[in-house]
Amino acid sequence: MSELSYKRTNVYEVADEKLLKEIFDYAEGYKTFLDEGKTEREVCAYVEEAAKARGYKPFTFGTKLKAGDKVYYNNRGKNMYLIRVGKGDVAKDGIRILASHIDSPRIDLKQVPLYETDGIAFAKTHYYGGIRKYQWATIPLALHGTVIRKDGTKLNVKIGEDESDPVFYISDLLPHLAAKQNAKPLGEAIGGEDLNIWFGNVPYTAAENEKDKTVKENLLRILNEKYGMCEADFLSAELSLVPAYKAKDVGFDRALIGSYGHDDRVCSYPAYTALFDETSDERTVMVVLADKEEIGSEGTTGMQCAVFTDLIDEIAASFGTTSAAVRANSKCLSADVNAAYDPNYPDVLEKLNATYLSHGAGITKFTGARGKSGSSDADAEYVGYLRKLFDENGVIWQTGELGRVDVGGGGTVAKYVAKMNIDTIDIGVAVASMHAPYEVVSKADVYETYLAFRAFIK
Ligand code: MN
Ligand code: MN
Repeated sequence: MSELSYKRTNVYEVADEKLLKEIFDYAEGYKTFLDEGKTEREVCAYVEEAAKARGYKPFTFGTKLKAGDKVYYNNRGKNMYLIRVGKGDVAKDGIRILASHIDSPRIDLKQVPLYETDGIAFAKTHYYGGIRKYQWATIPLALHGTVIRKDGTKLNVKIGEDESDPVFYISDLLPHLAAKQNAKPLGEAIGGEDLNIWFGNVPYTAAENEKDKTVKENLLRILNEKYGMCEADFLSAELSLVPAYKAKDVGFDRALIGSYGHDDRVCSYPAYTALFDETSDERTVMVVLADKEEIGSEGTTGMQCAVFTDLIDEIAASFGTTSAAVRANSKCLSADVNAAYDPNYPDVLEKLNATYLSHGAGITKFTGARGKSGSSDADAEYVGYLRKLFDENGVIWQTGELGRVDVGGGGTVAKYVAKMNIDTIDIGVAVASMHAPYEVVSKADVYETYLAFRAFIK
């Protein structure tokens, strides 16, 4: 191959002993992060503790910031902003933004979830984000979330993660009796209203009234005894079923990591650890860990919420400049995942323009569907800037689209940041089986993405 042609680099192929050790060491911290934070609330709490340990202080609106300040803004416990104020001129240089998301596809309980039928107590659910429903049956599920009880007290729930905990379950048919279901299109095999969670099977035989000798009554008694809950408390609760699996190395050579929710914690972890580890103090840096990306970045904790620009306003005001000036000179990496090329399903990806496992951080110039619809499509100048920056810093990176033209598509937070007059592009880790209960990434890509983020904020 001549030096004039382009070819992707396999990280494991070129890595020396030192880099290999760094890649594998870094993956250990990431796996702990995955197991400790399976929901946006848990990730927020985990990162808040880590930030506090590094001297970050909570930010309140109206406070003046100065060079050297390290602050965090925990938005409703579900959306985290980390800001480190540099010595440089924010009006002239803007700020560097790393924006990832910490919500993942999952199965939420409905507000009136409990019912009993034929001697089994179930909970009704409403799935969150894009899931292939059939993948969520017959796997162990853990219940995570928050309940606001009648008296206003808050209960944080995490059941199914300890070895001694029970898990929860969605059933499927046995092959012996599945002929009719097997004939259905895959997407219709299990419907949205079929994702009912197995909650209990023991009736409350001690009841005085015959009509209370039910499994549901027994379940309510357990919930009351253990958690001080009554049935109406589900009305003011956010409870989610997530896979009860732990993050594990995949394959004999341990090159890959399997876990629930790599999308997008696989970019969130590199984003905030890059901020903590990169000690150069010139630039002002903001790390965003957004919620609600999987359902359109809406709401008070999503990327479209004004809190994002309000924080930039506060930075600008602190230095006597305008938000418009700061934004015009700012740059953002929308840190999100792309689909990894999977040789088992080659038809949906176009080989030249796909992101490959273990080939480094993946830049996605545009997302969207059909004719790039719904994408912010970064300009060549910005790609050129990053290309030079990453090459100069020895970052191994690649580029790819989310699938073949017209096969499907998707979006990220990029377009909401770009709308604010901030140069933005998607970059992140390639994920195999994205949005499945157990997704796979390469340790090499996680580490190269971390190096890319460090180079960006240096
Ligand atoms: Mn994502
Ligand atoms: Mn996603």
